[in-house]
Amino acid sequence: MGVKSGINFFGKKNWLGAFGVPHAIINDLSLLHGLPERERRVGLVEAVKVALIRDAGFFEYIASHVRALAVFAPQPFEAVIRESARQHMQHIATAGDPFERGSARPLDFGHWAAHKLEQLSNFALSHGEAVAVGMALDLIYARDAGLLPAATADRILGVLTDLGLALYTPFLDLRSGDGSRRVLEGLEEFREHLGGRLSIPMIRAPGDRLEIHEMDASRVDQAVDILKARYG
Ligand SMILES: [Zn+2]
Repeated sequence: MGVKSGINFFGKKNWLGAFGVPHAIINDLSLLHGLPERERRVGLVEAVKVALIRDAGFFEYIASHVRALAVFAPQPFEAVIRESARQHMQHIATAGDPFERGSARPLDFGHWAAHKLEQLSNFALSHGEAVAVGMALDLIYARDAGLLPAATADRILGVLTDLGLALYTPFLDLRSGDGSRRVLEGLEEFREHLGGRLSIPMIRAPGDRLEIHEMDASRVDQAVDILKARYG
């Protein structure tokens, strides 16, 4: 769902690519139901993500069907995947920057850490698994930075865990020679990927997004410690 095609290079996913608008997109729900459980579960991660950055009502729908979604009950599962696809497409088509000339990437909530974690795991972590952890990290960060009320952060984290998603991975704890956590390298790599200014999507509430332009390394480190203590 989108206008980008990518190929892996330099050991990194989608390092090279091109923009091209598709003539059509086919969504085949029978394919969806034939996917392995792991793939279906992580598909829900991007639905939660797009709900958090765009649509409080969609988030409430997911939250109120969370137990049925966790076991892939066909009706809510199809509804959520369909709405997630529609919102991704609508964002790309109407938010004003389909070819990513600016540096804001609202659809990349939770993705700066996720991209690094996928790479650190040598892609043993799937994209969705990494994004679940990356969103949890950014939710704790937003809470501790005073952007997101604690009760809201806990509620969103509860929805993610009720969907059966892991919110901690040992890859968060890999360290470089100087003792710093390697996931922090993801911030600089994300900035390079944007082509200039760092711009990280955050939320103040479901559906209420903002961009921040720096992240405090020690607060990220502290957020990892909290994830490890809670979910490790
Ligand atoms: Zn993603």
